[in-house]
Amino acid sequence: MSDFSYPHFRFDLLKKDPHSQARRGRLSTPHGIVETPAFIFCGTKASVKGIYPSQLKAAGTQFCLANTYHLMLQPGADLIEQAGGLHAFMGWDGPLLTDSGGFQVFSLGYGSVADEIKGKRNRISSVQKITEEGVIFKSYLDGSLKMMTPEVSIEMQQKIGADFIVAFDECTPYHSSRTYTECSLERSHRWETRSFEAFDRHNNGKQAFYGIIQGGVYADLRERSAEYVNSMPFFGHAIGGTLGASKEEMYYVVDLARRHLTSIRPIHLLGIGGISDIFEGVALGIDTFDCVHPTRIARHGGALVPFALRDHSVREHISLKRASYAQDFTPIDPTCPCETCQKFSRAYVHYLLKTREILAITALTLHNVFFMNRLMQSIREALDTGTFQELRKKWAL
Ligand SMILES: [Zn+2]
Repeated sequence: MSDFSYPHFRFDLLKKDPHSQARRGRLSTPHGIVETPAFIFCGTKASVKGIYPSQLKAAGTQFCLANTYHLMLQPGADLIEQAGGLHAFMGWDGPLLTDSGGFQVFSLGYGSVADEIKGKRNRISSVQKITEEGVIFKSYLDGSLKMMTPEVSIEMQQKIGADFIVAFDECTPYHSSRTYTECSLERSHRWETRSFEAFDRHNNGKQAFYGIIQGGVYADLRERSAEYVNSMPFFGHAIGGTLGASKEEMYYVVDLARRHLTSIRPIHLLGIGGISDIFEGVALGIDTFDCVHPTRIARHGGALVPFALRDHSVREHISLKRASYAQDFTPIDPTCPCETCQKFSRAYVHYLLKTREILAITALTLHNVFFMNRLMQSIREALDTGTFQELRKKWAL
């Protein structure tokens, strides 16, 4: 397996920040280039909720993902394959990633990584049983029992046909003991090897494969997992599993996980997308991020804004549902080129939210997508010009 290659994919490191691990890179895929560091928008069910692919593209979006877990339950991987693959099915011709489904099986049971950091983990698990073969879980759609194995996950992801696919692993929650985490880690490595073998059997050259590093909050386990993924012919690596219970612990765990990974492969941080977390992640050497956060808060009235426009000491967005915006006729962000900021006032968006007009979702989603893409672009430009530390300070970190 050591001579395995990805002839249609490349990852080039262009520049390194002298004061941190931050790096400027370029991912080349059969569906175009991704300049990194980059944010991957979540089209969970093959749609970034509320906006068209053309709007995503016009907002500077480079990269989207969809979740295998959701797609395998509905509409099914076979239907997406019949449609000509995920790009054709959802009308997005740029780079796409699917996850293994494992994260969803476990996170829909345990709560998301972000929920965990916020202390909101849900203990009601959809996981019925974990065996060496795979996981038996309850479908969130109809409660029926399903079996997910490395082979099933890869078969689904090959049928769905995203550019990047991910090995199947177990995502352990924060409360896992060291003994359990170690046992799970070893099983995840066996699952990742089986995932790769399944991928290799039907590889058409149009997909690149990511391995996941696990190990929870334990330094020696993260190191062992890094050694494992480095030794496998993965195209890139994703940092998975619990990242701790606080931001400080998350940065510590990301650093632990990243420091032993080979620097020549792209590194993805799963499920993290807050502004301060992105700056910290970039500084720790992360190349790509994904999170539902920017598009999810949009659906609840949240608009991401530059530091100077925040109305709350901790929150990175303003909540346009607040009565204080009812007569605010200024744009969400006067520097933002999105149609929402160009045409609508805060008062109008507040009114749309109050009256539950569906345009409110589109307006705020579009703005937040623009915001994230402009943020990532400013980070890339700062890395290009050697001013990343200044930019980081501007966001008061
Ligand atoms: Zn805007």
